[in-house]
Amino acid sequence: MERTFIIVKPDGVARGLVGAVLERFERRGFRLLKLEVRTIDRGLAAEHYSHLKGRPFFEGLLDAITEGPSVLAVLEREDAIKVARNIVGATNPSDALPGTVRGDLGGCLPRNVVHASDSRESYEREVGLFFPGEAWLLEVQEAKQE
Ligand code: UDP
Ligand code: MG
Repeated sequence: MERTFIIVKPDGVARGLVGAVLERFERRGFRLLKLEVRTIDRGLAAEHYSHLKGRPFFEGLLDAITEGPSVLAVLEREDAIKVARNIVGATNPSDALPGTVRGDLGGCLPRNVVHASDSRESYEREVGLFFPGEAWLLEVQEAKQE
C-alpha cells in the first residue's frame, strides 16, 4: 500500500467541486485516512511550494492557495502517488486530457482545482508540514501475508 496527499484548492472548494474530486479518488479504490477543511496560511503555503520560490507565478500561486478554505486529504491504495497524479492530470488545465480532474474541471493557472504529491519524498515532506505530530501517517503499511 502507498499513500498520497491531496488538496482540493480554494478555487475547487469555492466552485463546489469537493465531492466531485473526492468521488473520483474513491471510485479508483482510494481509502480516506484523513480529511480536513483548512484555510492555509501564507507561511505554510510558501513552505509547501518552496521549490517554486523565485518563479514569476510564485506570489500569485500563494494568493490562490490561501484565498479561502481548502480540503486536505490523505488517501491510500496500491501505487497511490502515480494513480493520483494520473487522476489529477497535467498542471495546466489547457494541457490536461479529458477524463482527468484538471481536464474536466480545471480553471486557469494558478487555479487548477487540486494538488497531489509527486513522489514519496514529497508525500513525506508535505505530511510533515501539514500534519506535524501525526507520525502515524508516515508509518509504512506492510502488505498483508495470508
Ligand atoms: N503553477 C502556475 N504556473 C505554472 C506552473 C505552476 O501557476 O507555470 C502553479 C499551479 O497551481 C501548480 C502549482 O503552481 O499546481 C505547483 O506547480 P507544480 O509544477 O508542482 O505543478 P503540479 O504538481 O501541481 O502539477
Ligand atoms: Mg507539484
